[in-house]
Amino acid sequence: MKASTRLMQTPDLGLAPTRTVTPELYRGSTVYFDSYADLLSAGRGEYPGVTYGTDRLPQQRILEQAIGELEGAALTRVFPSGISAISETLLAFAKAGDHLLVCDNVYGPTLRFCREVLGKFGVQTDTVPANVGADIAEFLRPNTRLIFLESPGSNTFEIQDIPAITNIAREHGIVTVLDNTWATPLYLKPFALGVGISIHSVTKYLSGHSDVLMGSVSTTAEHAETLAKTYACREIYASPDDCLLTLRGLKTLHVRMKEHFASAMQVAQRLQDHPLIRDVLYPALPSHPEHHIWKRDFSGASGLFGMTLRHEYATEALGMFLDSLRLFGMGYSWGGYKSLITAGVPGRNLTGRHHGQTIIRLHIGLEDPEDLLEDLRHGLSLLEKQAPIRGA
Ligand SMILES: *Cc1c(COP(=O)(O)O)cnc(C)c1O
Repeated sequence: MKASTRLMQTPDLGLAPTRTVTPELYRGSTVYFDSYADLLSAGRGEYPGVTYGTDRLPQQRILEQAIGELEGAALTRVFPSGISAISETLLAFAKAGDHLLVCDNVYGPTLRFCREVLGKFGVQTDTVPANVGADIAEFLRPNTRLIFLESPGSNTFEIQDIPAITNIAREHGIVTVLDNTWATPLYLKPFALGVGISIHSVTKYLSGHSDVLMGSVSTTAEHAETLAKTYACREIYASPDDCLLTLRGLKTLHVRMKEHFASAMQVAQRLQDHPLIRDVLYPALPSHPEHHIWKRDFSGASGLFGMTLRHEYATEALGMFLDSLRLFGMGYSWGGYKSLITAGVPGRNLTGRHHGQTIIRLHIGLEDPEDLLEDLRHGLSLLEKQAPIRGA
């Protein structure tokens, strides 16, 4: 054997199979078949194993099974980001001539995809109020095909009456989709509330360490075939390394969520009493307008909430507050161990109760809540010395 041929061989150690606690990581495009008969059966779609890298390598299948079991789903598929999970779901279920309803507080790129991409293919999208319930009936048209919910919305935190909406949707044969990222599968069970499709930005709590971008879609039996077929056509698979990191993150999801919930509750309660703060937008607080719905439908709350100030401040003054924080990183996304902050006036929410107000959004990480409060109080004391531009 010449050196070049030698280099193309992978040594076979002849070991008994190695079984580590965490399953072996497979990375690959080509997957070997043992025989021509197996290759032919793959061609007929009858091969029982993985046929190619895009056919979802074992790490991805294990992760899909794990998320699916947590959700009680008939089928789960993972995607390389939350927004790709959302856009692929919409592509799978919407067709030319359909009308979609999307709640006004959804993740911005979700609505943008509906308008700018689906719009080109003859799908029309209208928004419904962020706290919609049975009144969604007023927005239905004969061709309404799908309702997309996000409860609570991850910027303004209004909650929808999911069972009231899914009851009406079922009567009209409309598919309901919920972006359940905020609550995680631990704190809200979408299928028990009549939802047909549950989506997560796995990037957030499920992976939990801000080092993975991934999304998941889980369906009831009714919608499984539609999703599976579109997935197989589009071949948008997830990286095995990211699946491995997410499987690792999932092991501690319940432990992390308990801490996020307890700490966020403590910080939110204390911020409510601060003289500079007008509203704390956290569904677990009794002061939240849809707290009764949260109490009825959710079994916990995550670490993400918003707050509005009694007065509006100039950008520089607000910047002084944000830049002073030592324990809060400034940046998009959330759901990891690190506390994060962003601030801005949401572009949409035109009918919502926070229209035109600056919303400061906090993700409470796994640091000690007393330390976080001290950091925030110090920052707010700097803001207190600034003159507001107007009362909010
Ligand atoms: C972040 C987020 C998404 C998008 O997830 P990516 O993985 O960042 O693409 C979708 N929905 C909600 C509610 C989110 O917070």
